[in-house]
Amino acid sequence: MKILLTGGAGYIGSVTTELLLDRKHEVTVFDNLERGHRAAVDPRAKLVTGDLRNKDEIRDAMKAAKPDAVMHFAAYALVGESMENPLLYFRNNLDGGVNLAEAMSAANVKRIIFSSTCATYGYPDKVPMTEDLPQRPVNPYGESKLQFEKVLMWCHQRIGFQPVFLRYFNACGATEKYGEDHLPETHLIPNVLKVALGKAEKVSVFGDDYETPDGTCIRDYIHIVDLAQAHILAIEGDATGAFNLGNGDGYSVKQVIDTARKITGKEIKAEMSPRRPGDPPRLIASAGKAKKVLGWKPKYADLETIIKHAWAWHQKHPDGYEVPQKPVLFVPHEAAHRRQVKKFRT
Ligand code: UDP
Repeated sequence: MKILLTGGAGYIGSVTTELLLDRKHEVTVFDNLERGHRAAVDPRAKLVTGDLRNKDEIRDAMKAAKPDAVMHFAAYALVGESMENPLLYFRNNLDGGVNLAEAMSAANVKRIIFSSTCATYGYPDKVPMTEDLPQRPVNPYGESKLQFEKVLMWCHQRIGFQPVFLRYFNACGATEKYGEDHLPETHLIPNVLKVALGKAEKVSVFGDDYETPDGTCIRDYIHIVDLAQAHILAIEGDATGAFNLGNGDGYSVKQVIDTARKITGKEIKAEMSPRRPGDPPRLIASAGKAKKVLGWKPKYADLETIIKHAWAWHQKHPDGYEVPQKPVLFVPHEAAHRRQVKKFRT
C-alpha cells in the first residue's frame, strides 16, 4: 500500500515506518522535524518536510503522495507542557489534525490510523481498561487527542472516513536502528537509562505515596515493535473503531528502576520527589479487543526484554540521534516544582 505517515521522525512513527517498509509498503513521511529527528527517518521512505498547521503544505503532500491510507502520529505529547500551554496542544494536535482530515477529504483518502492515547480516559473507573470506559481527559494533551477522535468519528459518519484509533499505553523499547530520544526527555525508562549511562546523576521518583503496593505509580509498558505491529495489522485489515494497546500487566516506577538495575548492572541512583501533577496511580490496558479484532499478538510483553532493547539502543546512541542543537525549552516537572517553591516562599 501507499501510506502517508505524519510524524515519521518521532519515536513511534520511525519504528512503524521501518516495519512498514520491511513489509514492502511505500511510505511518505510528512514531518516538520521540530521535535523529531531526520536521522530517525528510514532512508527507504520519502521525506516531505512540512507542518500540519500549514494547510497548503499537507494538502500538497497529500496530492503528491496519493496514498491509500494515512497514519497520523505527528503531535505534541507532553502532559506537563499541555497543562502549561493548552493552546499549543489544541493548535497542533486538533487544528493540525483538521488540516490533515481536510487534505484527506480533498484527495478522497478515507482510511486513517490515528495515534491516540490512554490519556483520553483520564482517571479510569476500573483497570484493566476497556475501550468502553468513559473518556474524561484530565489534561489538554488527552483532550486534544479525544477531540480529534471525535472529528474523525463525524468524518466517518458524514463523509465515509474509515478511522482506527489506537489508544497507546506506555510505549518503550527500541529496534536495532530506532529508539526513544525526546528533548526534553520526560519518560521514565529513558530517564532511568540516562543515569545508567552516566548522563544524569539520579532519577526522580514522582511520588511514593500512591495507593499501590509499593506506593509508586503503575503503568502498562508496551514494546514499540508490538505497537508498530498493531498499526500494520490495522492498515492491512479493514476494522474501524478504537483499540487499547498495552500488555495488561502493570509495573510500578520502583519495579522499572529495579529491573533496569538488573539489566544494566549499574547502581542507578533514585530520589523520591513530589507527585507529578495529573498522574493517575494505575493505568493498565485490556487489549482483548485488539487481540480479537485485529489479531494482535504482542511478542515482547516482559519488562526485562523491553528494557534490554532500550538499553542496547541507548548504549549505541548515548547522546540520542544527534548532539542537541536546540535549547531545552520546557521541563514540565521542574517548572511545576519551581512554582511550588515560589508559592511556599511568598
Ligand atoms: N516517572 C518518574 N520519574 C521520571 C519520569 C516518570 O517517576 O523521571 C513516573 C511518572 O510519574 C509515571 C511513570 O513514571 O508515574 C511513567 O511516566 P512516563 O512519563 O514515562 O509516562 P506517562 O505514564 O506519563 O505517559
